[in-house]
Amino acid sequence: MNVDQAPLKNRARRNWLASAAIAVLACSAEAGTTTALVADRLIDGRSKTALTDAVVLIEGERIVAIGNRSLIPAGAEVIELGDATLMPGMINAHEHPLMFGDDYQQVQLAHSSAYKTLMALAGLQRLLLAGWTGVRVMGDADVFYGNQDLRRVIDSGVFIGPRMSGAAHYISITGGGGDINYLSPEQRVRPDGLIADGPEEIRKAVREEVKYGSDWIKLLVTGAFESVGDDPRNVAFSPEELRAAVEEANRHGVPVAAHAHATEGIKQAVAAGVRSIEHGTYIDDEAMKMMAKRGTFLVPTVYLGDYYATGDNTLRAQDKNDEYIKHGRGDFLAAIAGAHRAGVKVVIGLDLGAGSADPKVYAREFAVFVEAGISPMDAIQAGTRVAAELLRWDDRLGTVEPGKLADIIAVPGNPLTDISALERVSMVILGGRVLKRPGEAASLGGLLPAPSAAHP
Ligand SMILES: [Zn+2]
Repeated sequence: MNVDQAPLKNRARRNWLASAAIAVLACSAEAGTTTALVADRLIDGRSKTALTDAVVLIEGERIVAIGNRSLIPAGAEVIELGDATLMPGMINAHEHPLMFGDDYQQVQLAHSSAYKTLMALAGLQRLLLAGWTGVRVMGDADVFYGNQDLRRVIDSGVFIGPRMSGAAHYISITGGGGDINYLSPEQRVRPDGLIADGPEEIRKAVREEVKYGSDWIKLLVTGAFESVGDDPRNVAFSPEELRAAVEEANRHGVPVAAHAHATEGIKQAVAAGVRSIEHGTYIDDEAMKMMAKRGTFLVPTVYLGDYYATGDNTLRAQDKNDEYIKHGRGDFLAAIAGAHRAGVKVVIGLDLGAGSADPKVYAREFAVFVEAGISPMDAIQAGTRVAAELLRWDDRLGTVEPGKLADIIAVPGNPLTDISALERVSMVILGGRVLKRPGEAASLGGLLPAPSAAHP
């Protein structure tokens, strides 16, 4: 039923909800108010099986109890979800909020940082309503610090959005994946990446990132697939440069995420002490063993290749993606499952741009994990508990357990038997605030309509 068909009473109520969304949200997070969520299943993010006929009690911003209906106190607001599954809010460990349009290098040259930041705010709100309550930013197509400003206005409650962490920029060598490599030599533009060559420039780039708010450092250790004029099979930074980056970041207490496709680049980054490998397309058994031993996380962002192989999206570097789909995808899926079996902590990350991608496609990363041979439960934990551990949020987020912040979503049916249920999130609660309820249109105020879907 859409809003036009709803009975007048409902329609009036929804209009009121839309116009006073923030007041309502503030109310539902008030301390002392108990909300009881009742659903056929609960995936808590830690247990190997789902709990059935589950009740989750929320007070203020936190989860206070989990059990059955006997827990529900008099006067609690009860949200009956029926044949649905409660689970922790999803965390996307690899996001570029300010990227929009497929040809992001060109788009970033044509739009101001302010415009991209506003588009990103709308995109992040769409993601939140699709069930993504946390994101880690892995640099952006923006020479300024728009994503750090977004994080500030969200953290301070001016705007509602997912919890954020991450790096403002990706640090790249000259001619690397963060540089613009398709202009003539006489052109001088500021590329999307932060260009640094040699240990001293890299130290300075790390210090600049930290100075302006990044709580991660992102390094483009090898070439990339989506940029023009570089090769994902090449290692960009020298071992000295890598060591300088990690050592400098460590001195500031900031972890390093290494974009690395090439096998040798993965190994050098792991040896240098990075916290996560992003992509890892050409990972081998030795690299997996190194990562399992050191506890290095792997964020394979595998759906991205499929995204650019279907629909009407095209990249300036489309040939690289086409080659990967033809000759690399099968091996990569096998490697992801192999890494998981070897004890590497694999994590869900999309590598899409919230500014334009349809939020429903984000859940397809889980489906590709399942296609690779990872169980649906492990895939869901890779996008909740394990992702929270990567982000160092695991003391307060990533599971549905008493004491944790109440970032909880619901999906219809059972995602353990149909992983695509994650594309149809019916309820979203962020820090105890009910943002979306089953059967009701959600609005955070000023939200742009979802872009037309380019993907079937
Ligand atoms: Zn990325």
